[in-house]
Amino acid sequence: MKKSLPFSSPAKRLALFFPGLLLLSLLISACQTPPASAPITESSFHFDTLVTVTIYDSKDKSLLTDCMELCDYYENIFSRTLEDAELTQLNEAAKKEENAGQALSLSDDLAALLEKGLEYSRLSEGAFDVTLEPVSSLWDFSSGQASVPSGSSIQEALPNVGYEKVQTDSRSGISSQNSAPSTSPENTAAGGHTVSFQQAGMGLDLGAVAKGYIADRLRDYLVSRGVKSATINLGGNLICIGNKPDGSPFKIGIQKPFSDRSDTIAYMDVTDMSVVTSGIYERCFEADGKFYHHLLNPETGYPYENHLISVTILSPHSVDGDGLSTACFALGLDKGTALLNNMEGIYGIFITDDYEIHYTEGFAEHISVVEEP
Ligand code: ADP
Ligand code: MG
Repeated sequence: MKKSLPFSSPAKRLALFFPGLLLLSLLISACQTPPASAPITESSFHFDTLVTVTIYDSKDKSLLTDCMELCDYYENIFSRTLEDAELTQLNEAAKKEENAGQALSLSDDLAALLEKGLEYSRLSEGAFDVTLEPVSSLWDFSSGQASVPSGSSIQEALPNVGYEKVQTDSRSGISSQNSAPSTSPENTAAGGHTVSFQQAGMGLDLGAVAKGYIADRLRDYLVSRGVKSATINLGGNLICIGNKPDGSPFKIGIQKPFSDRSDTIAYMDVTDMSVVTSGIYERCFEADGKFYHHLLNPETGYPYENHLISVTILSPHSVDGDGLSTACFALGLDKGTALLNNMEGIYGIFITDDYEIHYTEGFAEHISVVEEP
């Protein structure tokens, strides 16, 4: 039996207020548990998206509060729009002529996420490009009021995109992703990490990997506090910790593109895994009869048009699922499938605009999936 996510009522009110932000592509099929073992859950808006954490095996609500505080903490590092956020300030510095080629300091978390962004930029040979910011900020999809930028502004911005023009340096080594999480992480620019941009006017867009990184940090925190059954949902970036309390896997539905959230195209059994979707129906608009979405081609500055509607990635770490869902979308069905087929323990589902579902190698052997008739 299908049920929608158990949103708390304030979040539900927000959701009604900002319906465009809520095209979640993943649904958790709630289990039929007796009231005594009802899960605890909290939702709130971060990074323009609804974050929902649900814990099935603890009644300690401070865990939920801590998770929301961690979201605040990371938003203040990775946001491209909050004025005081570390990334906003870095991008401002990167625009200045006098900073071209200069080493600019980075905190541990920003350095770690930038390395992930660079990794997927290299893997996709620039189809995914972590330096897209000069172009993506012209489109401004995160404002909810995106419009088509002028052709000249895109042409002007394009030469400032290019991950090969970024150099990073980490004197004391980047903090391990598996380092012990806490609710007040030490995150200082004194860690010895720097980045330099070959030319002025560049900037970083970590929007394609940040939610996955944060979801991983929330999972690490909950696991460190003994949680063994929970779900973390950051607007389509989902992590399942363990199983449902009855020991059976979580049932994760993939939303039918452009349909109501409860309309699913397939269900999967998921235990201890991240499930992330990048789709063209998440942030999009129509202008002069043409459809525009937020997955942009760094070569042209315009949205990819490659007959893909969405890519869903199942992986142990959500930062990889997030990076790969965007990178594989950018690469298209054939190259994206080939990339995933070479990765152990990571599986993908591509949905093409004829609504066909394409699975990567090994998917059927490792993941139980049922397509809706
Ligand atoms: P969402 O964050 O909406 O769930 P994604 O994880 O796919 O979806 O990330 C999309 C975001 O990534 C965009 O909003 C933009 O900030 C950034 N982006 C878009 N195209 C690219 C690209 N080709 N390379 C790197 N980042 C991109
Ligand atoms: Mg992504």
